Amino acid sequence: MMEKEKHDLLIFNGTILTLNSNYDIIEDGIVGITNGVLKRIEARNKDKELPKSQQVLDASGGIIMPGIINTHTHAPMTLFRGLADDLPLLTWLHKYIFPLEGKLTFDLVYKGTLLACAEMILSGTTTFCDGYFYEDAVAHATRQAGMRGVLGQGIIDFPAPGVPDPAENIRHAERFLESWQGETSLIIPCLFCHSVYTCTEKTLRSAHRLAEQVGVLFQIHTAETQEEVRKVKKERGVSPIQYLYRIGILERETLLVHVIWVDETDLECVKKSQASISVTTESEMKLASGIAPLPSFLAKGIKVGLGTDGCASNNNLDMFREMDTTAKLHKVVSLDPTVLDARTVLTLTTAEAAKTIGLWDQVGSLEAGKRADIIIIDTKRPHLTPIYNPYSHIVYAASGSDVRDVIIDGRIVMKDRRILTFDVEEVMRDVRRESAHLARGFPLTRG
Ligand SMILES: [Zn+2]
Repeated sequence: MMEKEKHDLLIFNGTILTLNSNYDIIEDGIVGITNGVLKRIEARNKDKELPKSQQVLDASGGIIMPGIINTHTHAPMTLFRGLADDLPLLTWLHKYIFPLEGKLTFDLVYKGTLLACAEMILSGTTTFCDGYFYEDAVAHATRQAGMRGVLGQGIIDFPAPGVPDPAENIRHAERFLESWQGETSLIIPCLFCHSVYTCTEKTLRSAHRLAEQVGVLFQIHTAETQEEVRKVKKERGVSPIQYLYRIGILERETLLVHVIWVDETDLECVKKSQASISVTTESEMKLASGIAPLPSFLAKGIKVGLGTDGCASNNNLDMFREMDTTAKLHKVVSLDPTVLDARTVLTLTTAEAAKTIGLWDQVGSLEAGKRADIIIIDTKRPHLTPIYNPYSHIVYAASGSDVRDVIIDGRIVMKDRRILTFDVEEVMRDVRRESAHLARGFPLTRG
Protein backbone atom coordinates (compact mmCIF):
# COMPACT_ATOMS: atom_id res chain seq x y z
CA MET A 1 0.00 0.00 0.00
CA MET A 2 1.05 3.60 -0.46
CA GLU A 3 2.97 4.84 2.54
CA LYS A 4 0.76 7.96 2.66
CA GLU A 5 -2.44 5.96 3.06
CA LYS A 6 -3.69 6.05 6.61
CA HIS A 7 -4.73 2.93 8.53
CA ASP A 8 -7.78 2.95 10.77
CA LEU A 9 -5.90 1.09 13.47
CA LEU A 10 -2.25 0.29 14.00
CA ILE A 11 -1.01 -2.19 16.60
CA PHE A 12 2.67 -2.12 17.51
CA ASN A 13 5.21 -3.22 20.13
CA GLY A 14 4.32 -6.90 20.37
CA THR A 15 5.34 -10.36 19.21
CA ILE A 16 3.04 -11.42 16.36
CA LEU A 17 2.04 -15.08 16.12
CA THR A 18 0.67 -15.22 12.59
CA LEU A 19 -0.49 -18.88 12.65
CA ASN A 20 0.00 -18.77 8.86
CA SER A 21 1.15 -21.93 7.06
CA ASN A 22 4.81 -21.16 7.91
CA TYR A 23 3.93 -20.38 11.53
CA ASP A 24 5.84 -17.12 11.14
CA ILE A 25 6.55 -15.28 14.37
CA ILE A 26 7.39 -11.59 14.02
CA GLU A 27 9.27 -10.00 16.91
CA ASP A 28 8.54 -6.30 17.47
CA GLY A 29 5.84 -6.44 14.82
CA ILE A 30 3.26 -4.00 13.54
CA VAL A 31 -0.23 -4.73 12.26
CA GLY A 32 -2.09 -2.17 10.13
CA ILE A 33 -5.86 -2.41 9.67
CA THR A 34 -8.04 -0.57 7.16
CA ASN A 35 -11.79 -1.09 6.72
CA GLY A 36 -11.69 -4.16 8.98
CA VAL A 37 -9.06 -5.84 6.80
CA LEU A 38 -5.47 -6.74 7.71
CA LYS A 39 -3.36 -4.62 5.36
CA ARG A 40 0.08 -4.78 6.91
CA ILE A 41 1.79 -7.41 9.08
CA GLU A 42 5.50 -6.87 9.36
CA ALA A 43 8.50 -6.23 11.60
CA ARG A 44 8.87 -2.64 12.71
CA ASN A 45 11.54 -0.65 10.96
CA LYS A 46 13.20 1.23 13.79
CA ASP A 47 14.75 3.72 11.37
CA LYS A 48 11.34 4.81 10.14
CA GLU A 49 8.36 6.35 11.82
CA LEU A 50 5.33 4.17 12.47
CA PRO A 51 2.90 4.11 9.53
CA LYS A 52 0.12 6.68 9.83
CA SER A 53 -3.10 5.61 11.49
CA GLN A 54 -6.27 7.11 12.97
CA GLN A 55 -5.90 4.99 16.09
CA VAL A 56 -2.80 3.42 17.60
CA LEU A 57 -2.66 0.54 20.09
CA ASP A 58 0.55 -0.22 22.00
CA ALA A 59 0.72 -3.97 22.74
CA SER A 60 3.31 -3.23 25.49
CA GLY A 61 5.54 -6.13 24.53
CA GLY A 62 2.68 -8.67 24.68
CA ILE A 63 1.59 -11.31 22.18
CA ILE A 64 -0.49 -10.28 19.16
CA MET A 65 -2.35 -13.27 17.72
CA PRO A 66 -5.51 -14.30 15.84
CA GLY A 67 -8.72 -14.22 17.86
CA ILE A 68 -9.74 -17.59 19.32
CA ILE A 69 -12.50 -19.58 17.61
CA ASN A 70 -14.93 -21.68 19.66
CA THR A 71 -16.29 -24.27 17.21
CA HIS A 72 -19.20 -25.50 19.33
CA THR A 73 -21.35 -23.95 21.99
CA HIS A 74 -24.93 -23.18 22.99
CA ALA A 75 -24.39 -19.60 24.14
CA PRO A 76 -27.66 -19.01 26.07
CA MET A 77 -26.94 -21.99 28.33
CA THR A 78 -24.93 -19.58 30.51
CA LEU A 79 -28.35 -19.15 32.15
CA PHE A 80 -28.14 -22.73 33.50
CA ARG A 81 -24.52 -22.73 34.63
CA GLY A 82 -24.07 -24.70 37.84
CA LEU A 83 -27.77 -25.42 38.25
CA ALA A 84 -27.36 -29.16 37.74
CA ASP A 85 -23.94 -30.79 38.02
CA ASP A 86 -22.55 -34.22 38.76
CA LEU A 87 -25.62 -36.06 37.49
CA PRO A 88 -26.07 -39.02 35.14
CA LEU A 89 -26.52 -37.75 31.56
CA LEU A 90 -30.16 -38.77 31.18
CA THR A 91 -31.18 -37.32 34.57
CA TRP A 92 -29.32 -34.12 33.72
CA LEU A 93 -31.05 -33.86 30.35
CA HIS A 94 -34.60 -34.96 31.18
CA LYS A 95 -34.98 -33.73 34.77
CA TYR A 96 -33.16 -30.42 34.35
CA ILE A 97 -32.13 -29.19 30.91
CA PHE A 98 -35.30 -29.95 28.92
CA PRO A 99 -37.68 -28.57 31.62
CA LEU A 100 -35.42 -25.53 32.05
CA GLU A 101 -35.49 -24.89 28.32
CA GLY A 102 -39.28 -24.91 28.59
CA LYS A 103 -38.99 -21.66 30.58
CA LEU A 104 -36.95 -19.85 27.92
CA THR A 105 -38.18 -16.81 26.06
CA PHE A 106 -36.70 -14.70 23.27
CA ASP A 107 -35.66 -12.12 25.86
CA LEU A 108 -33.98 -14.65 28.17
CA VAL A 109 -32.04 -16.18 25.28
CA TYR A 110 -30.93 -12.68 24.25
CA LYS A 111 -29.67 -11.93 27.77
CA GLY A 112 -28.03 -15.33 28.20
CA THR A 113 -26.21 -14.85 24.90
CA LEU A 114 -24.96 -11.37 25.85
CA LEU A 115 -23.62 -12.88 29.07
CA ALA A 116 -21.89 -15.59 27.01
CA CYS A 117 -20.46 -12.94 24.66
CA ALA A 118 -19.05 -11.04 27.64
CA GLU A 119 -17.35 -14.18 28.91
CA MET A 120 -16.05 -15.10 25.45
CA ILE A 121 -14.67 -11.64 24.68
CA LEU A 122 -13.04 -11.44 28.12
CA SER A 123 -11.26 -14.73 27.38
CA GLY A 124 -10.14 -13.86 23.84
CA THR A 125 -12.78 -15.59 21.72
CA THR A 126 -13.71 -13.54 18.66
CA THR A 127 -15.72 -16.12 16.66
CA PHE A 128 -18.08 -18.80 17.93
CA CYS A 129 -20.17 -21.47 16.29
CA ASP A 130 -23.51 -21.85 18.01
CA GLY A 131 -26.55 -24.09 17.86
CA TYR A 132 -29.70 -23.37 19.83
CA PHE A 133 -33.33 -22.31 19.74
CA TYR A 134 -34.56 -18.70 19.47
CA GLU A 135 -31.38 -18.35 17.41
CA ASP A 136 -32.75 -15.05 16.19
CA ALA A 137 -32.22 -13.72 19.71
CA VAL A 138 -28.71 -15.21 19.72
CA ALA A 139 -27.99 -13.36 16.46
CA HIS A 140 -29.26 -10.03 17.80
CA ALA A 141 -27.14 -10.35 20.95
CA THR A 142 -24.06 -11.39 18.97
CA ARG A 143 -24.45 -8.36 16.71
CA GLN A 144 -24.85 -6.11 19.75
CA ALA A 145 -21.65 -7.57 21.25
CA GLY A 146 -19.74 -7.04 17.99
CA MET A 147 -18.68 -10.69 17.78
CA ARG A 148 -18.42 -12.95 14.73
CA GLY A 149 -20.95 -15.80 14.98
CA VAL A 150 -21.71 -18.84 12.87
CA LEU A 151 -25.19 -19.32 14.28
CA GLY A 152 -27.34 -22.39 13.77
CA GLN A 153 -31.09 -22.48 14.34
CA GLY A 154 -31.82 -25.70 16.21
CA ILE A 155 -33.86 -28.47 14.60
CA ILE A 156 -35.28 -31.31 16.69
CA ASP A 157 -38.37 -33.51 16.38
CA PHE A 158 -39.73 -32.48 19.77
CA PRO A 159 -41.43 -29.29 20.93
CA ALA A 160 -38.57 -26.81 21.42
CA PRO A 161 -38.19 -23.24 22.72
CA GLY A 162 -39.76 -20.95 20.13
CA VAL A 163 -40.84 -23.93 17.99
CA PRO A 164 -43.68 -25.60 19.92
CA ASP A 165 -44.78 -27.62 16.89
CA PRO A 166 -41.97 -29.82 15.53
CA ALA A 167 -43.74 -29.97 12.16
CA GLU A 168 -42.71 -26.32 11.80
CA ASN A 169 -39.01 -26.83 12.58
CA ILE A 170 -37.67 -26.71 9.01
CA ARG A 171 -39.86 -23.76 8.03
CA HIS A 172 -38.71 -21.95 11.15
CA ALA A 173 -35.05 -22.61 10.28
CA GLU A 174 -35.65 -21.43 6.73
CA ARG A 175 -37.03 -18.13 8.00
CA PHE A 176 -33.98 -17.73 10.23
CA LEU A 177 -31.63 -18.23 7.27
CA GLU A 178 -33.62 -15.80 5.16
CA SER A 179 -33.54 -13.05 7.72
CA TRP A 180 -29.80 -13.23 8.47
CA GLN A 181 -28.22 -14.30 5.17
CA GLY A 182 -26.17 -11.29 4.00
CA GLU A 183 -27.62 -9.05 6.74
CA THR A 184 -24.21 -8.33 8.28
CA SER A 185 -20.82 -9.87 7.58
CA LEU A 186 -20.38 -10.77 11.27
CA ILE A 187 -23.45 -13.03 11.51
CA ILE A 188 -23.20 -16.17 9.41
CA PRO A 189 -26.46 -18.13 9.73
CA CYS A 190 -26.47 -21.93 9.50
CA LEU A 191 -28.42 -24.99 10.67
CA PHE A 192 -28.01 -27.20 13.70
CA CYS A 193 -29.78 -30.56 13.74
CA HIS A 194 -29.67 -31.79 17.31
CA SER A 195 -28.70 -35.43 16.58
CA VAL A 196 -29.59 -38.58 14.65
CA TYR A 197 -31.48 -39.98 17.67
CA THR A 198 -33.71 -36.89 18.05
CA CYS A 199 -34.43 -36.25 14.37
CA THR A 200 -36.22 -38.49 11.86
CA GLU A 201 -34.63 -39.29 8.53
CA LYS A 202 -37.15 -37.01 6.83
CA THR A 203 -36.15 -34.09 9.08
CA LEU A 204 -32.43 -34.75 8.60
CA ARG A 205 -32.77 -34.91 4.82
CA SER A 206 -34.97 -31.79 4.59
CA ALA A 207 -32.69 -29.80 6.87
CA HIS A 208 -29.62 -30.84 4.93
CA ARG A 209 -31.25 -30.05 1.60
CA LEU A 210 -32.05 -26.58 2.90
CA ALA A 211 -28.47 -26.06 4.11
CA GLU A 212 -27.16 -27.16 0.73
CA GLN A 213 -29.52 -24.92 -1.22
CA VAL A 214 -28.63 -21.84 0.77
CA GLY A 215 -24.95 -22.86 1.03
CA VAL A 216 -24.57 -22.84 4.81
CA LEU A 217 -22.90 -25.03 7.43
CA PHE A 218 -24.82 -28.06 8.74
CA GLN A 219 -23.98 -29.01 12.35
CA ILE A 220 -25.00 -32.13 14.21
CA HIS A 221 -24.07 -33.84 17.53
CA THR A 222 -22.80 -37.28 16.52
CA ALA A 223 -21.54 -40.41 18.29
CA GLU A 224 -21.46 -38.69 21.68
CA THR A 225 -22.36 -41.64 23.89
CA GLN A 226 -22.21 -45.41 23.69
CA GLU A 227 -25.95 -45.45 24.30
CA GLU A 228 -26.56 -43.28 21.22
CA VAL A 229 -24.49 -45.56 18.99
CA ARG A 230 -26.31 -48.65 20.30
CA LYS A 231 -29.70 -47.01 19.70
CA VAL A 232 -28.90 -45.80 16.17
CA LYS A 233 -27.40 -49.17 15.18
CA LYS A 234 -30.53 -50.90 16.43
CA GLU A 235 -32.99 -48.53 14.75
CA ARG A 236 -31.15 -47.60 11.54
CA GLY A 237 -28.84 -50.56 11.03
CA VAL A 238 -25.47 -48.79 11.12
CA SER A 239 -23.46 -46.40 13.30
CA PRO A 240 -24.53 -42.71 13.39
CA ILE A 241 -21.66 -41.63 11.11
CA GLN A 242 -22.19 -44.42 8.57
CA TYR A 243 -25.91 -43.61 8.63
CA LEU A 244 -25.25 -39.92 7.86
CA TYR A 245 -22.87 -41.00 5.11
CA ARG A 246 -25.48 -43.35 3.65
CA ILE A 247 -28.20 -40.71 3.50
CA GLY A 248 -25.85 -38.20 1.89
CA ILE A 249 -25.52 -35.78 4.78
CA LEU A 250 -21.83 -36.21 5.40
CA GLU A 251 -20.01 -33.74 3.17
CA ARG A 252 -17.63 -30.78 3.16
CA GLU A 253 -20.09 -28.36 4.79
CA THR A 254 -20.95 -30.76 7.63
CA LEU A 255 -19.61 -30.19 11.14
CA LEU A 256 -19.88 -33.27 13.36
CA VAL A 257 -19.78 -32.49 17.06
CA HIS A 258 -18.19 -34.86 19.66
CA VAL A 259 -17.43 -37.99 17.52
CA ILE A 260 -16.31 -40.10 20.49
CA TRP A 261 -17.56 -43.63 19.88
CA VAL A 262 -16.27 -44.36 16.37
CA ASP A 263 -14.38 -47.08 14.52
CA GLU A 264 -12.05 -47.11 11.51
CA THR A 265 -14.93 -47.32 9.01
CA ASP A 266 -16.58 -44.27 10.60
CA LEU A 267 -13.38 -42.27 10.32
CA GLU A 268 -12.91 -43.35 6.70
CA CYS A 269 -16.41 -41.97 5.96
CA VAL A 270 -15.52 -38.65 7.60
CA LYS A 271 -12.23 -38.46 5.72
CA LYS A 272 -13.76 -39.34 2.35
CA SER A 273 -16.60 -36.86 2.73
CA GLN A 274 -14.25 -34.06 3.93
CA ALA A 275 -16.60 -33.30 6.83
CA SER A 276 -15.16 -31.57 9.90
CA ILE A 277 -15.21 -32.41 13.61
CA SER A 278 -15.62 -30.26 16.72
CA VAL A 279 -14.24 -31.78 19.94
CA THR A 280 -15.50 -30.38 23.26
CA THR A 281 -13.12 -32.07 25.69
CA GLU A 282 -14.16 -30.57 29.04
CA SER A 283 -17.88 -31.06 28.46
CA GLU A 284 -17.29 -34.64 27.30
CA MET A 285 -15.24 -35.27 30.46
CA LYS A 286 -17.81 -33.68 32.78
CA LEU A 287 -20.72 -35.65 31.33
CA ALA A 288 -18.50 -38.76 31.27
CA SER A 289 -19.35 -39.30 27.61
CA GLY A 290 -15.89 -40.56 26.70
CA ILE A 291 -12.75 -39.36 24.93
CA ALA A 292 -12.82 -38.40 21.23
CA PRO A 293 -9.82 -39.96 19.42
CA LEU A 294 -8.51 -36.53 18.41
CA PRO A 295 -4.93 -37.65 17.54
CA SER A 296 -6.43 -40.22 15.12
CA PHE A 297 -8.52 -37.49 13.45
CA LEU A 298 -5.38 -35.42 12.91
CA ALA A 299 -3.36 -38.41 11.68
CA LYS A 300 -6.04 -39.01 9.06
CA GLY A 301 -5.98 -35.38 7.94
CA ILE A 302 -9.54 -34.68 9.13
CA LYS A 303 -10.30 -31.02 9.88
CA VAL A 304 -10.73 -30.54 13.66
CA GLY A 305 -11.55 -27.61 15.93
CA LEU A 306 -12.07 -27.32 19.68
CA GLY A 307 -15.21 -26.04 21.38
CA THR A 308 -16.54 -25.59 24.89
CA ASP A 309 -20.10 -26.86 24.38
CA GLY A 310 -22.75 -25.11 26.48
CA CYS A 311 -22.12 -23.72 29.95
CA ALA A 312 -24.42 -26.25 31.59
CA SER A 313 -21.88 -29.00 30.90
CA ASN A 314 -18.46 -27.34 30.99
CA ASN A 315 -19.08 -24.92 32.98
CA ASN A 316 -17.19 -22.05 31.33
CA LEU A 317 -16.44 -20.67 27.87
CA ASP A 318 -12.71 -20.11 28.37
CA MET A 319 -10.96 -21.69 25.38
CA PHE A 320 -7.55 -21.38 27.09
CA ARG A 321 -8.71 -23.93 29.65
CA GLU A 322 -10.08 -26.08 26.86
CA MET A 323 -6.69 -26.12 25.10
CA ASP A 324 -4.81 -26.98 28.28
CA THR A 325 -7.18 -29.81 29.24
CA THR A 326 -7.28 -31.27 25.73
CA ALA A 327 -3.49 -31.40 25.43
CA LYS A 328 -3.06 -33.03 28.84
CA LEU A 329 -5.92 -35.50 28.55
CA HIS A 330 -4.55 -37.02 25.34
CA LYS A 331 -1.06 -37.25 26.77
CA VAL A 332 -2.22 -39.17 29.80
CA VAL A 333 -4.56 -41.56 27.99
CA SER A 334 -1.90 -42.39 25.40
CA LEU A 335 0.90 -42.35 28.00
CA ASP A 336 2.81 -40.27 25.44
CA PRO A 337 3.79 -36.67 26.35
CA THR A 338 4.66 -35.89 22.73
CA VAL A 339 1.02 -36.22 21.63
CA LEU A 340 -0.73 -32.92 20.79
CA ASP A 341 2.13 -30.45 21.22
CA ALA A 342 1.25 -26.86 22.19
CA ARG A 343 1.47 -25.40 18.69
CA THR A 344 -0.81 -28.08 17.26
CA VAL A 345 -3.36 -27.47 20.00
CA LEU A 346 -3.32 -23.72 19.34
CA THR A 347 -4.10 -24.31 15.66
CA LEU A 348 -7.24 -26.19 16.76
CA THR A 349 -8.63 -22.91 18.13
CA THR A 350 -7.34 -20.67 15.32
CA ALA A 351 -6.31 -21.74 11.80
CA GLU A 352 -7.71 -25.29 11.82
CA ALA A 353 -10.83 -24.17 13.70
CA ALA A 354 -11.54 -21.60 10.97
CA LYS A 355 -11.44 -24.39 8.37
CA THR A 356 -14.03 -26.48 10.23
CA ILE A 357 -16.63 -23.71 10.06
CA GLY A 358 -15.87 -22.53 6.53
CA LEU A 359 -14.19 -19.25 7.48
CA TRP A 360 -10.56 -19.96 6.57
CA ASP A 361 -10.58 -17.31 3.83
CA GLN A 362 -11.60 -14.71 6.44
CA VAL A 363 -10.12 -15.51 9.86
CA GLY A 364 -7.95 -17.99 11.82
CA SER A 365 -4.55 -16.47 11.02
CA LEU A 366 -2.98 -13.03 10.70
CA GLU A 367 -2.35 -12.62 6.98
CA ALA A 368 -2.84 -9.64 4.68
CA GLY A 369 -6.30 -9.65 3.15
CA LYS A 370 -8.05 -11.44 6.02
CA ARG A 371 -10.54 -9.81 8.38
CA ALA A 372 -8.89 -8.26 11.44
CA ASP A 373 -9.84 -10.49 14.38
CA ILE A 374 -6.97 -10.04 16.83
CA ILE A 375 -6.24 -10.47 20.52
CA ILE A 376 -3.40 -9.06 22.57
CA ILE A 377 -2.11 -11.07 25.50
CA ASP A 378 -0.54 -9.23 28.41
CA THR A 379 2.65 -11.16 29.08
CA LYS A 380 3.95 -8.93 31.89
CA ARG A 381 2.70 -11.32 34.53
CA PRO A 382 4.57 -13.63 36.90
CA HIS A 383 3.06 -16.80 35.45
CA LEU A 384 4.12 -15.78 31.92
CA THR A 385 7.70 -14.81 32.78
CA PRO A 386 10.12 -15.50 31.12
CA ILE A 387 9.00 -16.52 27.62
CA TYR A 388 10.95 -19.17 25.74
CA ASN A 389 8.10 -20.48 23.60
CA PRO A 390 4.90 -18.42 23.17
CA TYR A 391 2.83 -21.46 22.06
CA SER A 392 3.72 -23.25 25.27
CA HIS A 393 2.69 -20.25 27.39
CA ILE A 394 -0.65 -19.85 25.64
CA VAL A 395 -1.62 -23.51 26.01
CA TYR A 396 -0.09 -24.46 29.38
CA ALA A 397 0.33 -21.25 31.40
CA ALA A 398 -2.03 -18.52 30.22
CA SER A 399 -5.74 -18.22 30.90
CA GLY A 400 -8.51 -16.16 29.36
CA SER A 401 -7.97 -13.41 31.92
CA ASP A 402 -4.54 -12.68 30.41
CA VAL A 403 -6.21 -11.33 27.25
CA ARG A 404 -5.91 -7.53 27.46
CA ASP A 405 -7.48 -6.31 24.20
CA VAL A 406 -9.82 -7.78 21.60
CA ILE A 407 -10.32 -6.52 18.05
CA ILE A 408 -13.08 -8.01 15.89
CA ASP A 409 -13.43 -7.06 12.24
CA GLY A 410 -11.07 -4.17 12.85
CA ARG A 411 -13.10 -2.74 15.74
CA ILE A 412 -11.75 -2.59 19.29
CA VAL A 413 -14.35 -4.54 21.26
CA MET A 414 -12.35 -4.82 24.49
CA LYS A 415 -9.63 -2.43 25.66
CA ASP A 416 -7.64 -2.98 28.85
CA ARG A 417 -10.20 -5.68 29.79
CA ARG A 418 -13.15 -3.32 29.46
CA ILE A 419 -15.84 -4.36 26.98
CA LEU A 420 -16.83 -1.36 24.86
CA THR A 421 -19.86 -2.69 22.97
CA PHE A 422 -22.39 -3.23 25.77
CA ASP A 423 -22.94 -2.81 29.50
CA VAL A 424 -21.74 -6.05 31.13
CA GLU A 425 -22.85 -4.98 34.62
CA GLU A 426 -26.39 -4.50 33.39
CA VAL A 427 -26.43 -7.91 31.68
CA MET A 428 -25.22 -9.62 34.88
CA ARG A 429 -27.87 -7.78 36.90
CA ASP A 430 -30.58 -8.91 34.47
CA VAL A 431 -29.47 -12.54 34.49
CA ARG A 432 -29.13 -12.62 38.28
CA ARG A 433 -32.69 -11.35 38.56
CA GLU A 434 -33.98 -14.03 36.15
CA SER A 435 -32.06 -16.84 37.86
CA ALA A 436 -34.57 -17.17 40.74
CA HIS A 437 -37.37 -17.74 38.24
CA LEU A 438 -35.28 -20.28 36.31
CA ALA A 439 -34.29 -22.25 39.41
CA ARG A 440 -37.79 -22.38 40.86
CA GLY A 441 -39.10 -25.93 41.05
CA PHE A 442 -35.72 -27.61 40.67
CA PRO A 443 -34.01 -29.47 43.48
CA LEU A 444 -30.68 -27.64 43.70
CA THR A 445 -27.69 -29.91 44.10
CA ARG A 446 -25.65 -28.25 46.82
CA GLY A 447 -24.49 -31.44 48.45
ZN1 LIG B 1 -23.55 -29.38 22.07
